[in-house]
Amino acid sequence: MSLSVLIVAAGRGTRAGGEIPKQWQPLAGKRVIDHTLALFQSLPEVAHICVVLHPEDMTLLPATILKAEGGATRDASVRAGLDALAPLGITRVLIHDAARPCTPPAVIQSVIRALDTHPAAAPALPVTDALWRVADNAVLGPESRDGIYRAQTPQGFHFAAIRDAHASHMGSAADDVEVARAAGLDVALVTGHEDNLKITLPADFARAERILRGSMDIRLGNGYDVHRFCEGDHVWLCGVKVPHGRGLDGHSDADVGMHAITDAIYGALAEGDIGRHFPPSDPQWKGAASHIFLRHAAGVAQARGFKISNIDCTLVCERPKIGPHAIAMQAALADILGIDASRVSVKATTSERLGFTGREEGIAAIATATLVSE
Ligand code: MG
Repeated sequence: MSLSVLIVAAGRGTRAGGEIPKQWQPLAGKRVIDHTLALFQSLPEVAHICVVLHPEDMTLLPATILKAEGGATRDASVRAGLDALAPLGITRVLIHDAARPCTPPAVIQSVIRALDTHPAAAPALPVTDALWRVADNAVLGPESRDGIYRAQTPQGFHFAAIRDAHASHMGSAADDVEVARAAGLDVALVTGHEDNLKITLPADFARAERILRGSMDIRLGNGYDVHRFCEGDHVWLCGVKVPHGRGLDGHSDADVGMHAITDAIYGALAEGDIGRHFPPSDPQWKGAASHIFLRHAAGVAQARGFKISNIDCTLVCERPKIGPHAIAMQAALADILGIDASRVSVKATTSERLGFTGREEGIAAIATATLVSE
């Protein structure tokens, strides 16, 4: 079985408002279509994704994504997408609206599973509100809602069956289930979800944003580190070499700030600390530059599907003065983490000459990191 996904994004819908079609409008930090793509890009069952676009929009997605040029109607666009997928040896296809960026994974999985026993499957929800027939803004009377369902996507099909059905379908159809039924295909019903909304009207953006933000995994981690002073003429702090009358003692380059930040990222991921990933007992890390540790933590975050939203680090020392170096430190950390410098904060405090930092026996650093699921 080879499963592909066809995302229909060629529409020019204007009911949702805005200057550009709804699939390209911003939503919870990305474009609507980027959320929709992400629903399927993370699924191991999906071999290929093809997006059908309006001819003017072909450059709006990266070259790595398979694209087909849409036609004048929705039917024509779906046919173009099916044609693009046909040479790839596809056996099953999910056809999804680009304007449904909030589809719960369980709905997608239900459609995929139903295709094991049916040539077609689609999610829907029963209508629960009373239905009225209305004319001239007046209620004429109730309509039966027995057996009436609200259709959603993704709608799943055995590939050859839906391609044949589209090839022989005359006229336009509201969706692909209509085309499948016209060809006599048995379409299994799976349970849809209220969150699986289709962005249609301006108010739908706010609802979609609430749903997406609600499912976001936000992680906070903290880190704390101390290194004692030793003989030397400089210290490494947050990736910057700072001239000082003493050095910092440690197994690595003793960059106390970078260690605290690295531990904060590991902490947010419940991945232990630097010592777990780079054991001090292992001689290969002796004198190692601390950016190796920080890069590793950032890589673990990325591999786990998180992006680093912000970092805040406080260095605790009487001297050296941090202020003149803080901007360079922000830039160095941002470069290693691959994020904008505006998301990195480095600040410093003294401890009013109290305790070990006050007596200038060493430097302490505390850091927090916020990670957000992508
Ligand atoms: Mg350390």
